[in-house]
Amino acid sequence: MTVIEELVRSLGEAVLTGDRISQRHRSDASLTGSSLPKAVIRPASVADVAAALIICDRHRQSVVPQGGMTGLAGGANPNAADIVISLERMTGIEEIDSAAATMTVLAGTPLEMAQRAAEEAGFLLPIDLGARGSCQIGGNLATNAGGIRVIRHGVTRDNVLGLEAVLADGTVLSSLNKMVKNNTGYDLRQFFIGSEGTLGIITRAVLRLRPLPAGRLTALCALGSYADVVALLKRAQQQLSGLSAYEAMWDSYFGFNCAAEGLQFFETPPAFAVIIERDTHGLDGDREAFEAFLGQVLEDGLIGDALIAQSEKEAQAFWRVREGHALDRLPYLVNLDLSLPIGAVGSFAEKCGAALRDAFPSAHVSFFGHVADSNLHIAFSVEDADADAETLHEVDEIVYALVGCYHGSISAEHGIGILKRDFLDRSRSPAEIEIMRRIKTALDPNGILNPGKVLGRS
Ligand SMILES: Cc1cc2nc3c(=O)[nH]c(=O)nc-3n(C[C@H](O)[C@H](O)[C@H](O)COP(=O)(O)OP(=O)(O)OC[C@H]3O[C@@H](n4cnc5c(N)ncnc54)[C@H](O)[C@@H]3O)c2cc1C
Repeated sequence: MTVIEELVRSLGEAVLTGDRISQRHRSDASLTGSSLPKAVIRPASVADVAAALIICDRHRQSVVPQGGMTGLAGGANPNAADIVISLERMTGIEEIDSAAATMTVLAGTPLEMAQRAAEEAGFLLPIDLGARGSCQIGGNLATNAGGIRVIRHGVTRDNVLGLEAVLADGTVLSSLNKMVKNNTGYDLRQFFIGSEGTLGIITRAVLRLRPLPAGRLTALCALGSYADVVALLKRAQQQLSGLSAYEAMWDSYFGFNCAAEGLQFFETPPAFAVIIERDTHGLDGDREAFEAFLGQVLEDGLIGDALIAQSEKEAQAFWRVREGHALDRLPYLVNLDLSLPIGAVGSFAEKCGAALRDAFPSAHVSFFGHVADSNLHIAFSVEDADADAETLHEVDEIVYALVGCYHGSISAEHGIGILKRDFLDRSRSPAEIEIMRRIKTALDPNGILNPGKVLGRS
């Protein structure tokens, strides 16, 4: 019996082949995937996932886990010979434990659905990113997603207390722990968080919830130098309780997106613009303290100007510029995602911008980032349609060589997937890569889970 025949016998209608496979299984949001898989399995339960993996492992059949397909590293892209396991039917909140402040959720649940359920119960689920409407909790864990709230509550990894995953041989590893403290040997959940579907299929998670803020105060500041961006961050961390976002935009990025949105915030375009946000808990004087802080840093010359949003609509206008949707319309847009020591980000951006503009004089190159988390993004776009693959490779070479010089990371939050796999050695030592390979072999000896992603085939 073929692997497909066995899967159909075991899982019936959950197995799709031929014309029943939707185009959306071809590529994640990097738009770099070109093949449809030979089958898509849509399990409805953990038992279904285990049954599918037992059959695939016996047949040495490669399997690609898919969540919401919003990844930006090509990690969920299949080849024509792969079978996809899509978690889309495994959605739902199983429990909100108010005493423990935890939420137990199935891996296919869209992030936004989980956020809403937490809010209805009076809590904040602190994982948040622009793709919230489509990405799934399982995908967020598998990529260890970051986002704009990391400054306050950490990356996804910091908000996961328990996890259930199915290994390549069908073993269900259930560690649905709800406690913050649990020092009982190796922390197995951490193997799967950030493993991009190469070590197991995540089926459930216990997420940590926080008190729901009563509101948020948002300001947009104009600054003259990167040194001031860092100095303002330090002051905000010292003096503003509840700092929940600190997003920096270089003039190249801020100017482009303000023009595209038809918005002008400052009379003179600033060298840097920063969005500062703080959570409030309904206490008297929250707004006054925020205004006093901004007044003081203005007086000290750290900022040239500041606008405090007077309404949700005004705050959204600041965020529209930061989200930069106008960039999506640029041809061949590449969004590079890097980590660098915070103090070095300014000089890196200067050198990197100069090198890219030197090599591609007509390219769009702009910088923005979650600076407090040492995370810099570069938006790069070039008109020349003929130069596609070659251009992208040259851009990667220029940027990652410089990242290596600064001892930075080639991926801050998007993961390695397939797009950064060949550059992994710019950020990880041979010893680290060898240990990763050993872990992979121990958990997936037949190499069926997402082969070729993160580490490449050995
Ligand atoms: C508009 C937009 C904004 C974004 N903003 C951010 C941001 O601020 N921060 C950030 O970090 N990322 C961001 N991303 C990237 C992306 O949204 C995240 O990487 C997200 O966590 C991916 O989730 P997903 O469910 O879409 O996963 P997919 O894209 O489906 O898969 C991603 C990887 O996880 C694996 N995987 C998926 N589900 C499972 C599972 N259940 N078990 C095991 N492996 C699995 C896949 O094989 C693949 O390797 C953004 C993307 C877009 C399009």
